[in-house]
Amino acid sequence: MTNINNLKQIVIIGSGPAGLTAALYSARADYNPIVYEGLVSGGQLTTATVIENYPGFPEGIHGTELMQKIREQASKFGAELLFSTIDKVDFSKHPFTLWDDKNNEIKALSVIIATGASPRMLGIPSEKEYFGQGVSTCATCDGYFYKGKVVAVIGGGDTAAMEAIYLSNLASKVYIIHRRDELRACACSQKKILNTPNIEVIWDSVVDEIIGETKGFAKYVTAIKLKNVKTNTYNTINVDGVFIAIGHHPNTELFVNQLELTEEKYIKTIPGTTKTSVDGVFACGDVQDPVYKQAVVAAGSGAMAALDAQNFLEKFY
Ligand code: NDP
Repeated sequence: MTNINNLKQIVIIGSGPAGLTAALYSARADYNPIVYEGLVSGGQLTTATVIENYPGFPEGIHGTELMQKIREQASKFGAELLFSTIDKVDFSKHPFTLWDDKNNEIKALSVIIATGASPRMLGIPSEKEYFGQGVSTCATCDGYFYKGKVVAVIGGGDTAAMEAIYLSNLASKVYIIHRRDELRACACSQKKILNTPNIEVIWDSVVDEIIGETKGFAKYVTAIKLKNVKTNTYNTINVDGVFIAIGHHPNTELFVNQLELTEEKYIKTIPGTTKTSVDGVFACGDVQDPVYKQAVVAAGSGAMAALDAQNFLEKFY
């Protein structure tokens, strides 16, 4: 039997709704979870504006506030929360070994992965050149800089819609650039977009290049060159900022060769559970969910992961 002295019972990687709900459940069950929150606590929701579909908040709640509340709740029951990342894992032997960003070695009986997903980028060189200087993936973080200016939001999903609606209250004009002739965003978001006078959708178009200029050490975006994919023609529009909202990719680089991943690089879990291909390692939230990607679903799967981990740990006591 494993000598469990000095071992962490449950190590949780990630601090979005999935990770922190897993921490809350594990802490309440006295499993002393330790959460590696990463360098920013709260995950993707901290870049969201008002969330209107998280149950229990009929007036809506700001993403940062929601995450702060879940964090406080987990902490109140004894979860240990660390502003630190896990940089390497070895799941080939049990107990598992993990290394943090200071190369400290951590031994764990079970691991819950809740590393979420990150914004997808267009893949054109100019988006890198102007990133943080006119190109952003977060309207709530950077929208303030575009008060009274003209911006473009790239994408046709719910994120693009939310970003555009948020920006329409700050910018004088918001273009939505979408590669097809219909939006993927839900009907309610589409309705809001169509009813907002300073939002204009440019259909069937992709960004060919982000154009800007350099003044001293600073760079500025001045325009985007668009390609109409139906007519194969090009058009340039003047904008001061570009917000990329074309979806996310799962944060699984750390687990390549450690866990089975899907073709799209999500962690494979056994349907109806959070069990991964390694007994004792569990995955919850967007890192294993290519379909629903909702905060409430992530939180629910965090609770599942905690219960699955507790069930796994029973054999050690
Ligand atoms: P989605 O994958 O839903 O949408 C991505 C959008 O970007 C699509 O319109 C897609 O086009 C477009 N796109 C993808 N790649 C490119 C590219 N290379 N160039 C140009 N356009 C591209 O991602 P979201 O982040 O919008 O949403 C993810 C999930 O989160 C969804 O399930 C959504 O419902 C949910 N969500 C819910 C919110 C809520 O408040 N309820 C808020 C935000 C997100 P195409 O349509 O042609 O594929």
